[in-house]
Amino acid sequence: MSDLDLLLTGGLALDPDTGARSPVTVGVEGGRIAHLGPDSPGRPAREEIALDGALVLPGLVDLHTHVYRAGSRLGITADRVAARSGVTTWVDAGTAGAGTVEGLVRDVVERSAVRILAFLNLSYIGLAPADMPTREIGELWDPRLADLAAVLRAGRELPGTIRGIKLRASANACGDSAPVVLPLAREAADGLGVPLMVHVGLAPPTLTEVLPYLRTGDILTHCFHPHPGGGVLTAAGTLRPQVREAAERGVRFDVGHGGASLSYGVARAALDAGLLPDTISSDIHAHSIGGPVPDLLRVLETFLALGMSLPEVVARATRAPADVLGEPGLGRLAVGGPADIAVLRPADEPVALRDMTGAALTGRTRLRHVLTVAGGRVLRPAAGAPDEGRPSSWLHRFENSDERTELETPS
Ligand SMILES: [Zn+2]
Repeated sequence: MSDLDLLLTGGLALDPDTGARSPVTVGVEGGRIAHLGPDSPGRPAREEIALDGALVLPGLVDLHTHVYRAGSRLGITADRVAARSGVTTWVDAGTAGAGTVEGLVRDVVERSAVRILAFLNLSYIGLAPADMPTREIGELWDPRLADLAAVLRAGRELPGTIRGIKLRASANACGDSAPVVLPLAREAADGLGVPLMVHVGLAPPTLTEVLPYLRTGDILTHCFHPHPGGGVLTAAGTLRPQVREAAERGVRFDVGHGGASLSYGVARAALDAGLLPDTISSDIHAHSIGGPVPDLLRVLETFLALGMSLPEVVARATRAPADVLGEPGLGRLAVGGPADIAVLRPADEPVALRDMTGAALTGRTRLRHVLTVAGGRVLRPAAGAPDEGRPSSWLHRFENSDERTELETPS
């Protein structure tokens, strides 16, 4: 028998259902997991790494990211962040539209060590206009940019990459076009047989206008945002009945933290009311990476701080998003499956957190990154690589606006 490519010894596997930890040794060969269990595989490996009791998890799956640098000023480089965070599957959530997706495939998907999938923006130009320095123009303010035929053609040409449709249904993105573009987004997703991911935020449209368009398996991202115009809570702090109905019919509630899309107060009230997020994603981009979201681990730490358990947050960043993608082979460790592995070491350390409303939160668990293996390859953090963050004119303006004070008003 030939040597294994890689052997990880002395780790602990985490059972996402019970939280039980058990000794595990992982052998990797040809990009796949060749051995998984408490015992030794009985074969030497070209590289052996001792994990000294660290947690061996499936490679993390981040359902909402922006990793297309040429397609938008929001984009960051997935491999670089993966090497320090354990995220091995990245879903680019609408950075590309039908007119710009070819560059995402040729320049990002095909050149990255990590797996990159895409939810195609309904707008032909994707997020190209996001963060124009001199003016703000939403990608669907002109609804003629919702070219359904082009979206369907791109989805049929690139089924391996395009796994869903993305629509940003908020004032800055589609404004008054919502009544036109929401049904088109529905039609695009149905035409391709893929989930629809809708971002919600500052109205218009309101959340209650958006929810009727979402069905089983669709995704509502930024689910705990604090912006006026309708979050998941009523003014009294209870769950809106339409939200409960959507959850019951199988709409997935996704965090999508981002720069300004998570309020601890909203999240805590929703958790108290029994609405847990189905998936925990980062919405990492050039404006959030230097602030609240250096990586997905920080978002997981945030939900630990909000009272969820380690197995609960891990499941929501591994097998749950994999299931949303219809990829049950991802987000789980199994012999024969892809060798996508995240090794983390939870530490009892304070984590100082602050959301965009100014609310502070102190976590008690830091998730220290140990190792990322993507497709059997160990990703090494690049020493001295420059930060990819960019200041945002829009976020800066938002932070200085009065919107924050409107958060408590009935809507
Ligand atoms: Zn986003």
